[in-house]
Amino acid sequence: MECLICRGESDHNCLAFCGAVICGACEARLMEQTADEPGYEIHLQAFRLFWQKKLLALRDRHLGNGDWV
Ligand SMILES: [Zn+2]
Repeated sequence: MECLICRGESDHNCLAFCGAVICGACEARLMEQTADEPGYEIHLQAFRLFWQKKLLALRDRHLGNGDWV
């Protein structure tokens, strides 16, 4: 799987959640970073896009289930 943030090949230390992977290097960067540092917004944007897609998928599934009732 490829890293959600840097699109690099994820290693064994990668963080995986909800079908996405963040490599050890990016995870460490995120943990160390503060909102003042350049690049933080870019990482947040990647997360926002990812969660938006997840939420939309969940909502669509919910609506789809509703149709069956
Ligand atoms: Zn990465």
